[in-house]
Amino acid sequence: MEELDAARRFADRWLASLPDRPVGVPADPAALRSALGDLPDDGLPAAGVLDDLAAALEPGLVSSGGPRYFGFVTGGTLPVALAADWMVAAADQDAAVAVMSPAAAVVEEVAGGWVLDLLGLPGDAAVGFATGAQTANIACLAAARHALLAGVGHDVEADGLIGAPPVTVLLGAAAHATVVQALRLLGFGARHAVRVPTDAQGRLLPEELRSALAAAPGPVLVCAQAGQVNTGACDPLDEIAALVRAREHTWMHVDGAFGLWAAASPARRHLVVAADRADSWAVDAHKWLNVPYDSALTVVRDRAALAAAMSVSAPYLPLGDLDPSTRTLENSRRARGIPVYAALRALGRRGVADLVDRCCDLARRAADRFAAHAEVLNDVVLNQVLVRFPGVDVAQLARAVAEDGTCWVGTTVWDGAPALRFSVSNWSTTAADVDVSVDRILALAVELSGRGAGGPA
Ligand SMILES: *Cc1c(COP(=O)(O)O)cnc(C)c1O
Repeated sequence: MEELDAARRFADRWLASLPDRPVGVPADPAALRSALGDLPDDGLPAAGVLDDLAAALEPGLVSSGGPRYFGFVTGGTLPVALAADWMVAAADQDAAVAVMSPAAAVVEEVAGGWVLDLLGLPGDAAVGFATGAQTANIACLAAARHALLAGVGHDVEADGLIGAPPVTVLLGAAAHATVVQALRLLGFGARHAVRVPTDAQGRLLPEELRSALAAAPGPVLVCAQAGQVNTGACDPLDEIAALVRAREHTWMHVDGAFGLWAAASPARRHLVVAADRADSWAVDAHKWLNVPYDSALTVVRDRAALAAAMSVSAPYLPLGDLDPSTRTLENSRRARGIPVYAALRALGRRGVADLVDRCCDLARRAADRFAAHAEVLNDVVLNQVLVRFPGVDVAQLARAVAEDGTCWVGTTVWDGAPALRFSVSNWSTTAADVDVSVDRILALAVELSGRGAGGPA
């Protein structure tokens, strides 16, 4: 098909350019807009549309899937997962209900089961394929809301939160913003949530949780996390689980967007020990598993609670346990289990462990190289490194790094002051990529500190 040939031409060119093209070069939105042209009265030949589109997009594309993109927590795409994603688009299955695509439903069942196995989560938990940890967090916490309120005799799906018994929400002070967003959307309110103090790495302090639990009157939702977005630190899930399991009407959620993948590595699973004692888990696939956007998993121990929170009801839409939409916010959606399946089958257990370990080892390597000239702020337990440079404005440094184009890094605020975030999450990143990037960042920092000290502007 001519159209697919055009897509293939673009993909080959783009992917081949990733190792060498400048990373994250800023583009002018106005120029991008005008390059995209107008809506024609009469349509244009498809292959030409695609070639023109590729040319128009090119200046605004960021090589975030390339080996030297260290911003946010950004996975690339394994070639096998990319190819599987093309198959998803070609087959164009609606994964909402099994009758529309038995294949999509069963592949999600199989791939979901493999993820539970790799992450050491209960084998009979419900798995829904979500668009990201954001929507996975929402679905998990909706299941929690259902179960906690059902436990005190309130039907939240029928009656809403008006007149509902109060639920105490406890979450770590360093919880991810998307958990707060989920709490807002579910009617718990951001301000209502009690922020439990954390240690210097952002780990929830069990003693603080113990007193917060003792002070809470009714049902309690505890939001823990595996993989703090800045430090990579994992909450002490074993101690949290022990406290939660000793109390009635308590639900433990784990936001494990990237950190739960530590469980797939024999060398690192001690970081998330007892994760399986929680009630729900949000896990990204598009970050550390390196499948294309958008892909994550909602995992809930109590299948009925998730189904109660997610199911829709209509006479034309009879739903059963095989129907994926009983586990997702979305109704119609793409068969995003297929690329997850392909990635896992091509990697195998050892391949997933190796992907996790390689990224962690490279983060350690980056930290050691940074440490000679800068302050590494976190214990590098996973794939995240936080750095500060004496006498250097971090925002200015990040801009200089972006303009230089060797690599891309983000910024954050940690412990009250700005810091550079360096995240290694891409299957294709090598030691050489890390070395050249860290050296470039250090050289730019030296240049900037020279200017700050009164050198040439
Ligand atoms: C990235 C991240 C999220 C949000 O995930 P999306 O895939 O962007 O929706 C939530 N929690 C943590 C800890 C994360 O790192």
